[in-house]
Amino acid sequence: MQAPLSRLCVHTITTKPLALPAAIAGYQGIGASGITVWRDALLPLGLAESKKHLAGSGLSVVSLCRGGFFSAVTEVDRQKALDDNRRAIDEAAAIGAPLVVLVCGAVPKMPLAEGRKQIADAIAALVPHAAGAGVKLGIEPLHPMYADSRSAVNTLGQANDIVAELASPQVGVTIDVFHVWWDERLETEIARSGRLNAIFSFHVCDWRSPTRDMLNDRGVMGEGCIPLRQIRGWVEQAGFNGMIEVEIFSNELWQTDQSDFLRKIRSAYLEHV
Ligand code: ZN
Repeated sequence: MQAPLSRLCVHTITTKPLALPAAIAGYQGIGASGITVWRDALLPLGLAESKKHLAGSGLSVVSLCRGGFFSAVTEVDRQKALDDNRRAIDEAAAIGAPLVVLVCGAVPKMPLAEGRKQIADAIAALVPHAAGAGVKLGIEPLHPMYADSRSAVNTLGQANDIVAELASPQVGVTIDVFHVWWDERLETEIARSGRLNAIFSFHVCDWRSPTRDMLNDRGVMGEGCIPLRQIRGWVEQAGFNGMIEVEIFSNELWQTDQSDFLRKIRSAYLEHV
């Protein structure tokens, strides 16, 4: 079944060339209902002015991207990461975003299990601040190709393990199809996330084949090989019926006319998600 436009949300990074007011106008223009704001999009106007634009837009602010990058070799650097995450939580609260998405971090040559331990400890340390601000934290497992330097949490199972260990209503998962579509345990782990009441957000795009760049070659939904509707079905069966967030990093698409790109997103969302 087609997903309704009332669940379509776009990430500001998807239309990176657009400043926040132009992004808002663009998302309104395609009938989207939500916006996820990347921290860099807040810099030109500042928090107060950005909040005004968001509050007057009629779009629901779904999350702030992103916090994380917790693991580090030294205690000083781990504390710096925590401070930065507290700032991210405060920024989310300031713009009315109920969720900060976490790209958890990794250090080359650090054993992945040690990285995951540091990540779990860091998230535990943030819970009181997040609860005080009324902001939740979504652990986003990243594709294993990023296990060296961007995240030691590479499967939804590992993210669920941290959620179960911390057992805080403040901590859940962000399921991004780009990162998890290949996992043979995906359906099972999505169901487990649901039982943990932990599906906080859901990101879509597509996996281009071949992928030409590890970071910035995501496809528009339907351009690649991810079984989007099947995964959406699993997520909904697990109890999630929140926003479906279009998050596309693409050097190629950022160079195109962003209004055309947004129209393409709208039709791809209706046809393929
Ligand atoms: Zn994502």
